Amino acid sequence: MQEKKYKVYNLRNFKTIPQLSNLSQDDIEAIEVVGHVLPFKANNYVVDELINWKNVPEDPIFTLTFPRREMISKTNYQNVLFMLQNNTADDEFKAEVNKIRMRLNPNPAGQAQNVPMLGKIKLHGVQHKYRETVLFFPSQGQTCHAYCTFCFRWPQFTGINELKFGMKEADLLHRYLLQHKKVTDVLFTGGDPMTATAKILASYIEPLLTKEFDHIRTIRIGSKSLAYWPYRYLTDKDADEVIGLFEKVVKAGKHLAFQAHFNHPVELSTDAVKQAIERIKNTGAEIRAQSPLLRKINNHPAIWAEMWQKQVELGCVPYYMFVARDTGSKAFFEVPLERAWDIYRKAYASVSGVARTVRGPSMSAHPGKIHIVGIADVKGEKVFVLRFLQCRNPNLVGIPFFAKYDPKATWFDQLEPAFGEKEFFFEKDDLLGNADRDNDFLWE
Ligand SMILES: *Cc1c(COP(=O)(O)O)cnc(C)c1O
Ligand code: SF4
Repeated sequence: MQEKKYKVYNLRNFKTIPQLSNLSQDDIEAIEVVGHVLPFKANNYVVDELINWKNVPEDPIFTLTFPRREMISKTNYQNVLFMLQNNTADDEFKAEVNKIRMRLNPNPAGQAQNVPMLGKIKLHGVQHKYRETVLFFPSQGQTCHAYCTFCFRWPQFTGINELKFGMKEADLLHRYLLQHKKVTDVLFTGGDPMTATAKILASYIEPLLTKEFDHIRTIRIGSKSLAYWPYRYLTDKDADEVIGLFEKVVKAGKHLAFQAHFNHPVELSTDAVKQAIERIKNTGAEIRAQSPLLRKINNHPAIWAEMWQKQVELGCVPYYMFVARDTGSKAFFEVPLERAWDIYRKAYASVSGVARTVRGPSMSAHPGKIHIVGIADVKGEKVFVLRFLQCRNPNLVGIPFFAKYDPKATWFDQLEPAFGEKEFFFEKDDLLGNADRDNDFLWE
């Protein structure tokens, strides 16, 4: 594979993208305006190999990476446009934009509350919500090869500092894991941890391969790099070193799960991504694929069916379908829960058993990952049938529960218990504990 030199596009230089001539002046203005509120970054792979410029602005990959006018409210749009046109002073501009961002629910599902303690130290780069799995956000991985316009991690990229979860000290992570023997999985996430160098990744991962960490069975890496920059595994300077690190993990007897973020079948179609998948698979790692369901990008059963089928052909395991979170540009991308379930069901029904490994649609809400099992009629009342795929309290996983049918609902907060109940079963008797308290007591 020929080396591809990485070229970043952002607000400063996006007007140099040659293909931009396919856009109207309105669309270009929108990139400028909305790009000052939501994170915006693209690269030459996304621009040259993924976007179909004959189909902009409706092209799914264009919409995935380039800001569009409707992603923020009309009032906010006019406000930012006015400030740009009138050369508003930097401080004032930033303050105003941050105000808009803060109203876009930058920290959904109480993410800031899942930060664990090591003695008296708050571990800001760690989240421990479910007993078996610890999430770690390497501070060098708090960026992505391009940004998804729907990203719920967007505050991490826009410099709202106190919301940055990143942590430098691998040492603290390792000490925390030694104290929590029920943890079997460490999930490196971000941003995209694969934006960090192989050396930095090794400093986090290699210590976990020693005897002391026998209880850690699976190392997971959540990454969009296969979709947005597959050259990370092919021709980047330390591509071979990354592959070597993956091999080391597998040789040490651990399961290496690469959780790839793919939103559309186009992302699975280039030579580069196919070769990168093959290289990663050859290390013995398993690739699992996941994506949110997004209006304008993949809100059709045929798209999902094609995506799962392609993943299976390339040796990846379809893993999760998520409902887009209630943050940032959600209003632009949201799909009603009923429609989400319908898309899942139809896609699921149209592929063979080997591609029916996907769990979803799933909402990562405050109490846990809530699976929309379906819609049912129970003695004349139409209800959503739900269950936890993951829960703060592991004893509650898998128990079915019911919410009143609501055709407009797009997120769990909007649902009410069915059958005239006042609370959902998990809201009773402190079953989920107090979010500010250490979760350990739920995990005895
Ligand atoms: C999704 C998620 C995990 C991993 O869940 P799995 O079902 O094991 O893939 C872990 N922690 C958090 C906070 C999550 O949202
Ligand atoms: S890949 Fe994930 S973390 Fe990166 S911009 Fe997209 S949604 Fe956000």
